Amino acid sequence: MISSKMLSMTKSGSAIRAMFEEGARMAEKYGPENVYDFSLGNPNIPAPEKVREEILRAASGTDPMELHGYMPNAGYPEVRARVAASLNRRFGTAFHENNIIMTVGAAGGLNILLKALLDPGDEVLVFAPYFLEYGNYVSNFDGVLKAIPANIEGNFQPDPRALRAAITPKTKALILNNPNNPTGVIYTEETVRAIAAVLEERERELGTSVYLISDEPYRELAYDGREVPYLTKYYRNTLVGYSWSKSLSLPGERIGYVVIPDECDDARLLFDAAVIANRILGFVNAPSLMQRVAAECLEESTDLAAYDRNRRALYQGLTEAGFTCVYPDGAFYLWMKTPGDDREFSDRAKKHNILVVPGTSFACPGYVRIAYCVSYDRIIRSLPAFRALAEEYGLSK
Ligand code: PLP
Repeated sequence: MISSKMLSMTKSGSAIRAMFEEGARMAEKYGPENVYDFSLGNPNIPAPEKVREEILRAASGTDPMELHGYMPNAGYPEVRARVAASLNRRFGTAFHENNIIMTVGAAGGLNILLKALLDPGDEVLVFAPYFLEYGNYVSNFDGVLKAIPANIEGNFQPDPRALRAAITPKTKALILNNPNNPTGVIYTEETVRAIAAVLEERERELGTSVYLISDEPYRELAYDGREVPYLTKYYRNTLVGYSWSKSLSLPGERIGYVVIPDECDDARLLFDAAVIANRILGFVNAPSLMQRVAAECLEESTDLAAYDRNRRALYQGLTEAGFTCVYPDGAFYLWMKTPGDDREFSDRAKKHNILVVPGTSFACPGYVRIAYCVSYDRIIRSLPAFRALAEEYGLSK
């Protein structure tokens, strides 16, 4: 009796979620200290103390009718104005409250943008490897997701020539995720300029423009002082989706925003459509308490040094064991080449109580993603197991 689309989704499920659940079962069986679960991008660093303080302050000091009531579907105007001002300060942009819609996390933001943009059959491009949920979000609105193959030789920087070849008159949007899940790569300013040039060139040739959707929940997680380019400054038709899920460790609170700049094609119409999408997809508005808390915590940051320590220890431990890894510049993922089939590798890793996600789950076989948003202790304790696995594959130096 259920929809055929949903029926097929119940069968395919999410490999990452399934592994996360398996990790919990294994922890019960072997003891949590003996299971090295690197499957889910669930931050292990507590939210900053100020988040707790602001939750308590908002809960106790605000008129409850105002705190818990409905509001404009785009979110509290004063919160949106503060988000805009903070972006302007940081990135030299000129946003105002009517460029910002508060959303139910980055996922909610992507869904309202895609709902506002897509007609059935419209194409959305993405560079592999990519967060596989994009396919579901696009299919929610009967769009077609097209993946551009991974640029392995180019160290996973998107290949502008491949983008050029992929754009057709049906292309409505390109989703770019920087810093990247799953590779941990930061797309450079040079890459971004080249992508913008291709989009502009195709706009001139085809007479239709492509929206660039910048999905950036990992923006603040950049190491060694690396810059993450702010895309609205490089390409006119850029829309931004952000959330505090990773940057302030609040994934369960479902809070984020989208930016629809004035200079985009049909900016006002698109804004209105996205606000309606927020309403009719059933979000109605982003959580009211969290909007107020986020507005007070715009200058807060997570403990980047702790992720950095994990990153260095893991990269060093794995490369010393003989594995080949992409050096991660951002996010909290390490992308490791597998000696052989990635699904088989992740199954064999499980025998050593290591849980990692096969690259196939990101449309890029031959690699695994290792989420290092875990305790430092788990990383250190996992290294002998990784070394044993490397030996099994004959990699050890
Ligand atoms: N985009 C990417 C690339 C992600 O990795 C995630 C979550 O892991 C999301 C979007 C969704 O983020 P949120 O939890 O804020 O909806």
